[in-house]
Amino acid sequence: MRSGPDHFTLGAWKCVCDRCGFDFKNNQLRKEWTGFRVCSGPGTNDCWEPRHPQDHVKGKRDRQAPPWVRPDSDGTDVSPGSGNEVSPEDL
Ligand SMILES: [Zn+2]
Repeated sequence: MRSGPDHFTLGAWKCVCDRCGFDFKNNQLRKEWTGFRVCSGPGTNDCWEPRHPQDHVKGKRDRQAPPWVRPDSDGTDVSPGSGNEVSPEDL
């Protein structure tokens, strides 16, 4: 048994962060949504991350609502009151 400067508090033990691979105390690791036990908090590399809602959305969004909409090229008047208003059922 080696005794050194790194006395761990009673009940704490050495754990390895699944992400950075550094040694920490068990109470410095936190279970992440990925299932990894990663370091979190002061004195660590703070590997822990909350789950991002955009996990499955890579890159930027390819569609944005236009600031305004022109009438269709066929010239149909879709302005309010024309009788040709675009209703949600038409979309
Ligand atoms: Zn880490």
